[in-house]
Amino acid sequence: MQDTHVLMGHGSGGSMMKRIIDEVFLESYGSEYLQQGNDAAVLPAPAPGERVVVSTDSFVVTPHFFPGGDIGHLAVCGTVNDVATSGAVPKYLTCGFILEEGFEVEQLQRICASMAATAAEAGVALVTGDTKVVNRGHGDGVYINTTGVGFLPEGRNLGGQLCQPGDMVLLSGSLGDHGMTIMSCREQLGFSGDLQTDAAPLNHLVQDVLAAAPETRCFRDPTRGGLASTLNELAEQSGVDFAIEEEAVPVKDVVRGACEMLGYDVFQVANEGKMVAVVPASQAEAALAAMRANKYGTEAAIVGEVQAAAPDRKPRVTVRTAFGSTRILDMLVGEQLPRIC
Ligand code: MG
Repeated sequence: MQDTHVLMGHGSGGSMMKRIIDEVFLESYGSEYLQQGNDAAVLPAPAPGERVVVSTDSFVVTPHFFPGGDIGHLAVCGTVNDVATSGAVPKYLTCGFILEEGFEVEQLQRICASMAATAAEAGVALVTGDTKVVNRGHGDGVYINTTGVGFLPEGRNLGGQLCQPGDMVLLSGSLGDHGMTIMSCREQLGFSGDLQTDAAPLNHLVQDVLAAAPETRCFRDPTRGGLASTLNELAEQSGVDFAIEEEAVPVKDVVRGACEMLGYDVFQVANEGKMVAVVPASQAEAALAAMRANKYGTEAAIVGEVQAAAPDRKPRVTVRTAFGSTRILDMLVGEQLPRIC
């Protein structure tokens, strides 16, 4: 690529735009669909009985590069994981870039290489994209939107409204890694060397759990708002309580220390490579073994259970602490860590 920085012409629709598409995007992740060069990707239909699942997400994280990942890796993982929570097999991704004039092409190439590697790991193809350039000072280097398309096998019906009293709550690994990594980068807190994002594509882990525990009620990735928001959403959707055992929830010492220093509740901190599964008790051990056998679930744990909600109040989430007391875990209010993803 002869240009070292993004110029307004790269979003022009003309020859400069063709250059950035050919030499950066196609060079990095040109799938057979992207290579066709048409305005729309024509994709194979799902098998008879399968349904199509779609999810979209935009990524504005700052900084763009951080320990264990970058905005491109995150843009693939975040959308792949949202599609995967339905039980679908993610197949295709679209990718829209909003670039700021002056952004370094070398950084864009690193981001695209990271997207290519992550998409390959997840088994999804980048099939169509868009490039816009905004004037210097009107963006923050790069924003990415990805939309994911997956196919849901016939007869598979998961959802946050299906949790029942007696179900077990599984968490695929430690809490708070992504949020505290971004925070420590921004604040230059010094313990950033010990922290790295957990961002990871979890579609294979989800399929492994479904093979072992086909009655799984739902999956959800505890991203912004953390486990607290995820469980409160599920409690409201299903009209049930969640009771979590604090001692069962894996948290790395460095993350716990950072949360204490900064005054964050680790239950409310964002994760980008963790999955919550609600599973009938009879299949919980099988689901746990499947999670632990996956490389992104080695620290998975059963962290609590679903209970019937009292009829005279709203469903709630409680945490029993190591000291035996119980506290109510509320949904995150407001914005704790802006531009975390
Ligand atoms: Mg999600």
